[in-house]
Amino acid sequence: MDGDGKHIILADPRGFCAGVDRAIATVQTILKSARPQNGLPPVYVRRQIVHNRHVVDDLAAQGAVFVEELSEIPDDAVAAGVPVVFSAHGVSPQVQAEAKRRGMFIVDATCPLVSKVHREVSRFVREGYEIIYIGHRGHDEAVGVVGESPEHVHLIEHERDVADLDFQPGQKLVLLTQTTLSVDETAGVVAALKQRFDWIEEPPSSDICYATQNRQTAVKTVAQRAQCVVIVGSANSSNSVRLMEVAQEALGECGRAHRVDDAAELDPAWFDGVQTVGISSGASVPDTLVDGVVEALRPLGFTDVSYVETIKENMHFVLPATLRKRGEAGKAAD
Ligand code: SF4
Repeated sequence: MDGDGKHIILADPRGFCAGVDRAIATVQTILKSARPQNGLPPVYVRRQIVHNRHVVDDLAAQGAVFVEELSEIPDDAVAAGVPVVFSAHGVSPQVQAEAKRRGMFIVDATCPLVSKVHREVSRFVREGYEIIYIGHRGHDEAVGVVGESPEHVHLIEHERDVADLDFQPGQKLVLLTQTTLSVDETAGVVAALKQRFDWIEEPPSSDICYATQNRQTAVKTVAQRAQCVVIVGSANSSNSVRLMEVAQEALGECGRAHRVDDAAELDPAWFDGVQTVGISSGASVPDTLVDGVVEALRPLGFTDVSYVETIKENMHFVLPATLRKRGEAGKAAD
């Protein structure tokens, strides 16, 4: 440790979660075992496998072809059985149905914690509930979950949206949430919902996932010891944006939180007069990008690097069962 240097405090946990690890490993496993055939790509991936530009660029450089919609995948690739991977954020039943109709070989890398919310929607709709879903309009995960039952799932984003809802006592109501929201912000929306609809129910366990909660707790602790926080993560990564908001909340008037895709986006002016910088990263961010930020801060005098660990994670999800059936994943099981 360099006693004279300015300080960097790394949040731990940060970066890859079990769902992202599994999604990336799914595509990598297919790429490793793929045999070239008639100029077709080894694998198609619907949407960004995880919301990180660097991860997507890296897999694309290895041959994966990313599409926005299944309609972009040509019939000859479908006929040849080129695998199509669904991203960690999940898809709606309409997308599943299109894949089935076209006879696609689907490898579903939806995070098991997102699948849990899909199953909750199906179950509650079957039991006659209306579902209030707190999420971000247009985010892939929210689109997939709402698509389970668009007529019974009512998406709200903010506390102020609660006033627009209209349900009468006697209507069974349940509250579900996107997995990557801010724990604190959601608490405000939940309180407003409970005040308006005091009979609303919640699922047996929170939908906000362990990785989101753990990363937010860690960044809050780090922010309380810093005057500036840098979050590494892409702008379309819900959990990265929430991390920045949580960090800003914890810093208050004493500092600023910034989000960057990588070290190239750092602005040296952010660190004027700053003695301690906190750093964390979203659940879809490889640690090499965090290393890049640490290195870039060194010439600015930030040479003393330590970390704060708030919890040890040991979550792991095995690869999708479809890969094992194709003999592409050895002993992996779902
Ligand atoms: S952030 Fe949570 S829900 Fe999203 S992929 Fe990771 S573990 Fe799954």
